[in-house]
Amino acid sequence: MADSGPPGLDAQQLRQAVRALGAAAPACAACAGVLCAGWESVSVPLAAPQVEWVGSLRNAADPEPTLQEHHPDGTHYWSPRAPIVLDAFPFNRCEVWRCVQCRRGFLQYTEAGGYYVDHRLREIDLALVTEGPPPTVA
Ligand SMILES: [Zn+2]
Repeated sequence: MADSGPPGLDAQQLRQAVRALGAAAPACAACAGVLCAGWESVSVPLAAPQVEWVGSLRNAADPEPTLQEHHPDGTHYWSPRAPIVLDAFPFNRCEVWRCVQCRRGFLQYTEAGGYYVDHRLREIDLALVTEGPPPTVA
């Protein structure tokens, strides 16, 4: 396998991947303790062998993805019901993972500031996956 970075998943590919995850299934014993309907800050990211990597939402051609969020229904960053808009922050820098036991899907990315890194984790709710439009610049 080439080590040039993973291919970016588009919304359709993510949906297919998430459907394949069996997102409607209840969490299994291995991941039931992972509660992250909205974004959660975690000290240690989920990693193999508990979860396996599915793909990336990063666009390899866009090294500086937008920091704009998209909340058409009045949600905010931490809302459990905030839409998963693949072209908007922070989804445009997420990696997709799934539980190896029940295939429940998760998004992860790392917030990096000047003096800290913060791992963020959110469960994938297929009903919240929203196709663009990407946020427009006012
Ligand atoms: Zn599981």
